[in-house]
Amino acid sequence: MSKILDGKKLAKELELRLQKDISCFDSMAGRPPGLAVIRVGNDPASGVYVSNKEKACKRVGIESFVFNLDSKTSNEDILRTIKKLNNDNKVDGILLQLPLPKGLNEKILLREIDPDKDVDGLHALNLGKLIKGEKGPRSCTPAGIIALLHNNQISLEGKRIVVIGRSILVGKPMALMLQAANATVTVAHSKTKNLKELTNQADLLVVAVGKPQIIGIEHVRTNSVVIDVGIHRIHDKSKEKDKPDLKLCGDVKFDEIKSKVKALTPVPGGVGPMTVAMLLVNTVDRWQFHCGLSSTLGDLLP
Ligand code: NAP
Repeated sequence: MSKILDGKKLAKELELRLQKDISCFDSMAGRPPGLAVIRVGNDPASGVYVSNKEKACKRVGIESFVFNLDSKTSNEDILRTIKKLNNDNKVDGILLQLPLPKGLNEKILLREIDPDKDVDGLHALNLGKLIKGEKGPRSCTPAGIIALLHNNQISLEGKRIVVIGRSILVGKPMALMLQAANATVTVAHSKTKNLKELTNQADLLVVAVGKPQIIGIEHVRTNSVVIDVGIHRIHDKSKEKDKPDLKLCGDVKFDEIKSKVKALTPVPGGVGPMTVAMLLVNTVDRWQFHCGLSSTLGDLLP
């Protein structure tokens, strides 16, 4: 029987820990932690993600400031909003919801976020800190995966790990965090030859491809661990005609591989909730930093 790595459960536990930390230090800080989220345009998936983040903030006691900007907003206007938030003492973290509508310059906008408020860990300075092994805000998705693995006592030292995907958001920081945990890491991507041969050598496989159910039983090694980062809405053929027929799935064929592997993450309920939990962790960590409080969350920032 394979073990399901339950991100939803761990995310709840982390929320309780954050709630306690916030209520303990609230009076010393004189204000609650604050998170600003900037959403540009009306991509429905982004809308759901932003609303989930807002609800999660409320549950733990973080004040959230959501900016819903029109899809025609210019780079300059967004820059102005970012600069205002950089100087706002109530705001500890700034998140620019990606992807942005066409025509906007993601690189320039991310660069303008104060690195000390960069709760997504995507500022060049914070990515540089990750490379150098210095402390700093870490990208939420890979940091959430590391926390999930630790929590399930899955050791990384000396393990052969394959990460499929090399994006700045997931694949690259994931590989760096796994290396920092003394794993031997190989990164695969769309030009990788003989992907199956490579993934069959992996003790642990992280899949961040962005293609529904592309990884099947032929890709995974017996008794390995598989982390599925992908999230997609697909048609559910099993549903009756008049019922809503969309369901969520990942990059991995969960049902096909589950009897072959030792442990795996489900979609939904695996990496997704951990990503949101790590956003809260980064925000509270930044609040502690800005208010001169001791850090209580170092164990969660790989
Ligand atoms: P991305 O920027 O599109 O990157 C995808 C990566 O996969 C690229 O490096 C690409 O290679 C590689 N790739 C594409 N097709 C491939 C193939 N056939 N074989 C091997 N590699 C292939 O995506 P991302 O931002 O990293 O996100 C990946 C997935 O995770 C998406 O489904 C996204 O929605 C999901 N996601 C989930 C969460 C969460 O919280 N659950 C968070 C972030 C992202 P090249 O570099 O050569 O193009």
